[in-house]
Amino acid sequence: MPNVNTILTLEEQIDLQIRTSGPISVATYMGLCLTHPSKGYYRAGDPIGAAGDFVTAPEISQMFGELVGFFLVNLWQQMGEPKAFTLLELGPGRGTLMADVLRVACRAPGFRDGLDLRLFETSPVLVAQQRAKLESYDPQWVESFEQVGDGPLLVVANEFFDALPIRQFVRKPDGWHERLVGLVDGRRAFGLSPTPIPPETMPAAVADAAPDTLIEVCFAGAEIMSRLAKIVARQGGSILAIDYGYPATRTGETLQGVRRHAYADVLENPGDTDLSAHVDFGTLAAAARGAGLAVQPLATQGQFLTRLGIAERARALAGANPGAADAIRAAQDRLVGTDQMGELFKAFCAHSPGLVPAGFAP
Ligand code: SAH
Repeated sequence: MPNVNTILTLEEQIDLQIRTSGPISVATYMGLCLTHPSKGYYRAGDPIGAAGDFVTAPEISQMFGELVGFFLVNLWQQMGEPKAFTLLELGPGRGTLMADVLRVACRAPGFRDGLDLRLFETSPVLVAQQRAKLESYDPQWVESFEQVGDGPLLVVANEFFDALPIRQFVRKPDGWHERLVGLVDGRRAFGLSPTPIPPETMPAAVADAAPDTLIEVCFAGAEIMSRLAKIVARQGGSILAIDYGYPATRTGETLQGVRRHAYADVLENPGDTDLSAHVDFGTLAAAARGAGLAVQPLATQGQFLTRLGIAERARALAGANPGAADAIRAAQDRLVGTDQMGELFKAFCAHSPGLVPAGFAP
């Protein structure tokens, strides 16, 4: 018997599902596109880097991970240098960020001995790259957050939350209608569910939104934050998330497709286009506070890296390798420049009350 999976493309599978069962939510569409078991965007290949679809901060320069390493060591010291603790990365990509983090952090006596490294990753291709880079630290890949031990927990996530499926709702006179992906004349197109959702399920902040306003809601992100925050509240630690996003829940569409370093139609080439949405840090903050954590005011990536000393680090690296000075300065600009990644990307930190994470407002 041929396996349906092997004969239908992801595109055909999605269209077949819509034809037989009706239009699907944006979250269902995004979930299939990104994490379908064999053909999802993050399951099939390596999207990161010059040959892929996008380049991330740790791939631009080692300085990014090194500064996050200083940030983590500092928290670990504030916690009294626990003899056993877990460092968990969500969506570690090629393992570059964690390799740079650990090269710096393991210079602190005791850090390496106490370290229990856990990685949360959906992509088999990227798991292989993480294994190759991080093997010497004996990492374990976790499928659920119950597997993070019972000691203090430090969590790091760069460009992870933007990859989680979002739902979209559009305001109409009779309420909020979910936006759906259907087929019109055989082509995928957006439409709206005929039935409005109960108004009390929408965030209070958008109760007075004008007709045709669109809002995005990431239930998966809030769920992950809430679960991790409960563990951190119980066991001590912090959660650092860096991503493009906005500080408080608001309306407006941010869902985007990126393919080979250019914007692409989100409904075309499913499984071969990166889909992401800006992160609602307001919702993540509420989830963390709800679990009992303190939350820092959001910093821009530029502020965060500058406060952690990127200028000094760049000078030291350039001093040690004068031939690379221009490239190092260019990388620094790319990471902190307000017209580059410095302002679009934000740093979010939730933590046990009493800790003072470096890099946030003094
Ligand atoms: N942090 C890395 C990679 C960012 S890309 C960097 O900065 O370079 C997003 C990462 O999240 C990838 O590793 C991707 O495979 C992973 N990812 C995306 N959706 C996921 C999911 N639902 N569960 C686990 N990992 C996921």
